Amino acid sequence: MSLTDSLRKLPRYDLLDGETPIQRLPGIEEATAASSRGIGIYVKRDDFMSIGGGGNKLRKLEFLLGDALRQGADTIVATGGRQSNFARLAAASAARAGLKCELVLSRMVPRDGDEYDRNGNVLLDDLFGAHIHHLDAGADATAFAEARARDLQQAGRTAYVALLGGSSAVGSVGYASCALEIAKQSDGLGIDFTEIVLPNGSSGTHAGLAAGYKALGRDPKQIRSHSVLAVQSNAIASTMEKANAVLALLGIDGALDETDINISGKQLGDGYGIPTAAMFDAVRLLANREGLLTDPVYSGKAFAGLLDDIATGRYKAGDNVLFLMTGGSPGLYAYARDFLRR
Ligand SMILES: *Cc1c(COP(=O)(O)O)cnc(C)c1O
Repeated sequence: MSLTDSLRKLPRYDLLDGETPIQRLPGIEEATAASSRGIGIYVKRDDFMSIGGGGNKLRKLEFLLGDALRQGADTIVATGGRQSNFARLAAASAARAGLKCELVLSRMVPRDGDEYDRNGNVLLDDLFGAHIHHLDAGADATAFAEARARDLQQAGRTAYVALLGGSSAVGSVGYASCALEIAKQSDGLGIDFTEIVLPNGSSGTHAGLAAGYKALGRDPKQIRSHSVLAVQSNAIASTMEKANAVLALLGIDGALDETDINISGKQLGDGYGIPTAAMFDAVRLLANREGLLTDPVYSGKAFAGLLDDIATGRYKAGDNVLFLMTGGSPGLYAYARDFLRR
């Protein structure tokens, strides 16, 4: 069965209003000397979507909400870190779909203070009408969410639980669908992208793209992510497992092994949500050369990884690289003081 046919069988709630644009970055090509070396740098604007501020989680939520609505759910219970972009977009898309939303937010990052605890995504979660449960450090968010869903059930409601990053097989399918979109767009542009570069947190985005590439007969190794959460070997294992779960859900033959998964662990720094010097420089460069926003936790570190790969000769004349902009700019407001200090 083709990827298109397999995707059509899954319930989906439209949140995207069509394709996101692919744009060229002449300012970055110049700043990195890529232009003089014959390397093209492009972005796919998955930060540019019609609701909730946009971001990669909306593609996952299309399939998660489709699944939830088919099960008759009236409430989405989502988990994440305090400044979770997935939580924000779960709240926004639940509002759009007429569902209630409860967020279980835990302390995944050693930061606190007003800026981190109340601004950025947390402010928006509240505006989107979500009911927020703030957990203390060390609390088990998954167990809390499942217990909360059972309580709601007992009160006659029907809850759908979506865990960390929405990276279940159902959610990750959103990026198998995106792989199809990229393949169509690159045919239209006449550009065969050497690599597609993105951040890797809960791994569903990379997994979905890699599964999609496999289903299309392309090389899944062309999907390259920079881990921002796990060390490289763990990120590879979880991405492979999720990609295979996506292929199974889609009913597509074939499986990926570890050699099909292309992940760098070089940008992780001291860990999830902890800034690196390269991240600050990358966020600033993209903002002041192109007017584009990345975020401190995910896309800023991944863009730093791309800059490092360009500087160290990973790409050669004739190569074109596509950076997937995954959104997350509300996170900038949670790290404002760090940016202003530099
Ligand atoms: C969640 C997120 C990612 C990572 O996606 P995963 O599927 O969790 O690996 C990247 N960028 C942003 C802005 C995100 O919010």
